[in-house]
Amino acid sequence: MQHDLVLRGGRVIDPSQGVDAVMDVGFQNGRVAGIGAELSGAEVKDVRGLIVTPGLIDLHTHVYWGGTSLGVDPLRLARGGCTTLVDAGSAGPGNYPGFLEHVIRPSAPVRVLAYLNVSFAGIYGFARRIMVGESGDLRLMAPAEAVEVANANRDTIVGVKVRVGLHASQYSGVIPLDIARQTAEELGLPMMVHLDHPPPTLEDVLARLRPGDVLTHCFRPFPNNPSTAEGGVREAVIEARKRGILFDIGHGMGSFAFKTARTMAANGFAPDCISSDVHALCIDGPAFDLLTTMSKFLCLGMKLDDVIKATTAAPAKAMRRSDLGSLRPGGVGEASILELSHGKFDYVDVVGERLTGDWRLEPRGIVLNGRLWNG
Ligand SMILES: [Zn+2]
Repeated sequence: MQHDLVLRGGRVIDPSQGVDAVMDVGFQNGRVAGIGAELSGAEVKDVRGLIVTPGLIDLHTHVYWGGTSLGVDPLRLARGGCTTLVDAGSAGPGNYPGFLEHVIRPSAPVRVLAYLNVSFAGIYGFARRIMVGESGDLRLMAPAEAVEVANANRDTIVGVKVRVGLHASQYSGVIPLDIARQTAEELGLPMMVHLDHPPPTLEDVLARLRPGDVLTHCFRPFPNNPSTAEGGVREAVIEARKRGILFDIGHGMGSFAFKTARTMAANGFAPDCISSDVHALCIDGPAFDLLTTMSKFLCLGMKLDDVIKATTAAPAKAMRRSDLGSLRPGGVGEASILELSHGKFDYVDVVGERLTGDWRLEPRGIVLNGRLWNG
């Protein structure tokens, strides 16, 4: 069989199929056609010494560029190695049509999906000198409008986003979360929930999440961190994982600390999903992008296969998109090509702690629609 494209001789890591071996990946008619040895293709890309994974999914980004002040260009993130960018509530029902028309559709074949903010205009007041949380004024909560817009855009909206915490919801506590949950229940979709400083507390939030809902910023620094002062994991966090709540990193500019991550790792508690929460105020550090966030976890001792799973199969499952995050033959023709370097690399977290680590992942290209992407 002659493929349109063959990635030749890379280390293929696809946790969805339990694959970690040197082999070829062939694409035909925009889909994965096969993985194996000595595949032939019209175009053959030599990727020996590199890693080939299912198209990486960044589950928490902000890519409503130009329409919201925190947005970054999704194509820049695709150049950083991701094939799917999931926007975490930049847009609400009041401005989702603009996001769809001006960003999501023009970005194709780079895939942009979204958690729709339950607040009417999404994250509208997020900048260096202007910081107004969209969940602070309860008049902005728009459950009926969110249901309408999400129902009209089932192909791009994967869930409901809500941000609670002193910065995002001021004194509203858990009320925006209760409204978001009602909205998500009406739609039959999962929620992604942001948490910053109390109120509400981590315990208050976790008690309201359902199996399959995502807590983002899950390894944040004190306060509302998942670890205890004694070096353990909070009881509510252990209980939430047992119930099927998903824990997503969402690094961002204020939501990931090495100290928390080390304590969680020491207790055997790995994140379900690793995401960057990259936006205008953290793309030049400390978050940078998904591969930098993944590299931090490698340096903290997480296994490469587990880091890949947390950025492919796991976020696909969180979005209930079983068509994504896998190199199964017949599936979407998407892959990420990565280089893993060993050396001494400097990293920093959101509280300014520095880490010199041994590993660094860098992008070497992506495949979209079964073709190398030149965007
Ligand atoms: Zn965010």
